[in-house]
Amino acid sequence: MKIAPSLYNAPLMRLEQILQTLEDEGIEILHVDVMDGHFVPALSFGEKIVDQIHSDSPLYLDVHLMVDKPEQFLARFQNADGITIHAEATAHPAYCLDAIHRMGKDAGLALNPGTPVSLVEDLLPLCDRVLVMTVNPGRGGEMFREEMNQKILKLKDIRSQKQLSFEIQADGNITEQTIQKLDADCAVSGGFLFQSPDLAGNIRRLNANAHN
Ligand code: ZN
Repeated sequence: MKIAPSLYNAPLMRLEQILQTLEDEGIEILHVDVMDGHFVPALSFGEKIVDQIHSDSPLYLDVHLMVDKPEQFLARFQNADGITIHAEATAHPAYCLDAIHRMGKDAGLALNPGTPVSLVEDLLPLCDRVLVMTVNPGRGGEMFREEMNQKILKLKDIRSQKQLSFEIQADGNITEQTIQKLDADCAVSGGFLFQSPDLAGNIRRLNANAHN
């Protein structure tokens, strides 16, 4: 399982050192949680941090847009490598996924815990990535929802039945305990990785507990 560190909980005054540690530990994807205070209660970064990291680091920049009407924000993220929108945040998810592709980027679709796979099945051929939220996003302190792994397994079934190739990500309170319950291809982790200054050690602990 790939690990995609989320910058949301990172001490940004040490950003340069953090990026170096991620590269040294073989991390390839950096996850940037963009929150608008509407779609989710929390507020976080905009495009500036993506622009800065793009010029300083070879990491793949994966932007997770937790914003209402993401179609209005896509053009700001020219320096992202991939952009994920929420199925619940727009009436026009297919338009958004196509627009992301027209920008030359990988397109992802995120599902809140209450959103079933059946609602987005027709969109899956348009996705390079599907992100399964394992908590409700942008609230903090929520319990990991173990039952979301059923959604991941269902996505894996559809992927092989329909011969699709999207990557399946899990995001939300992923720790050395909860990662053991996941069959995703990629786990996003922020709070656990940045809970102590030993970022390299925390990455290794996550890797050691991932079962695929
Ligand atoms: Zn995220």
